[in-house]
Amino acid sequence: MLKLTELKTPASLEEAYELLRLPHHTALAGGTLSQLQAGEPTVGVELTHLLPSGITRDGCRLRIGAMTVLRTLETDPALQTGCLSILPASVRHLQGPALRNLITVGGAVGARFPQSEFLTALLALDAQAVLYRGGTVPLETYLNAPPEDIVCELLVDREPGQTGFCAVRNSYVDQPILCAAACLREGTWRIAVGARPFLTEVRTCPASRDIREIAADCGASFRMGDDLKATADYRRRICPAIVRRAMEGEGVCR
Ligand SMILES: Cc1cc2nc3c(=O)[nH]c(=O)nc-3n(C[C@H](O)[C@H](O)[C@H](O)COP(=O)(O)OP(=O)(O)OC[C@H]3O[C@@H](n4cnc5c(N)ncnc54)[C@H](O)[C@@H]3O)c2cc1C
Repeated sequence: MLKLTELKTPASLEEAYELLRLPHHTALAGGTLSQLQAGEPTVGVELTHLLPSGITRDGCRLRIGAMTVLRTLETDPALQTGCLSILPASVRHLQGPALRNLITVGGAVGARFPQSEFLTALLALDAQAVLYRGGTVPLETYLNAPPEDIVCELLVDREPGQTGFCAVRNSYVDQPILCAAACLREGTWRIAVGARPFLTEVRTCPASRDIREIAADCGASFRMGDDLKATADYRRRICPAIVRRAMEGEGVCR
């Protein structure tokens, strides 16, 4: 478990940003990742009072404040139907409601957890991250950059589309062995595959192609690895079925 030597409460995001550039300073949102991490004692920098919480409609987009907890995403009536329903589907299996009431959207993105089903759904939806310093960027850009900036909000498109999410796991609340999310908009598929067990990646391809062919290509082209749950070979073999089910909107399999 992470050891905190001090907890600092900055007065502004500017102060928080400067503090986080110092060695051995860690941002704290829900604080749940510290339960899994062991390492050098660190200074915690509290973000909870500085960032927005809640889900609001902004024209054709949804704005999700970084301090919104996953349980809110799971239960928000606006997300229960339609193409954004893959967001609640992607967090429903993360442990129990007690943990989902602590984990924040900003923390879930900032943690860059390789098994993250939530990141997988967000990447398929082509979500954008509103950063304190970096402005509004595609979530992919944020995830591939060094973790220096503070995520203030996430933006997701509310435009109609066809989406699906599928994951394979050993038990209801276990982390996935492999997960996939797919989104079809304006003739293009965005397909994200996570828990490979590397950080989720996304591919795009035209909707004119056969679904089975696209799914087979995903199995062959996404890099897979071994961990305690499964081998790379097993992941490669199940990937086409998971991707196809996500594209067909079939949901979670166990
Ligand atoms: C028992 C247990 C089981 C878990 N199972 C899963 C699982 O199945 N799937 C899964 O995806 N995850 C799982 N997790 C990990 C979980 O996703 C992380 O603990 C969580 O995302 C962290 O969210 P938090 O709000 O608590 O953030 P914190 O723990 O406070 O912070 C997490 C990281 O994000 C950074 N951060 C926080 N807020 C921001 C921000 N606004 N901008 C930029 N960086 C920020 C912090 O610096 C830190 O590095 C599990 C955790 C636990 C304890």
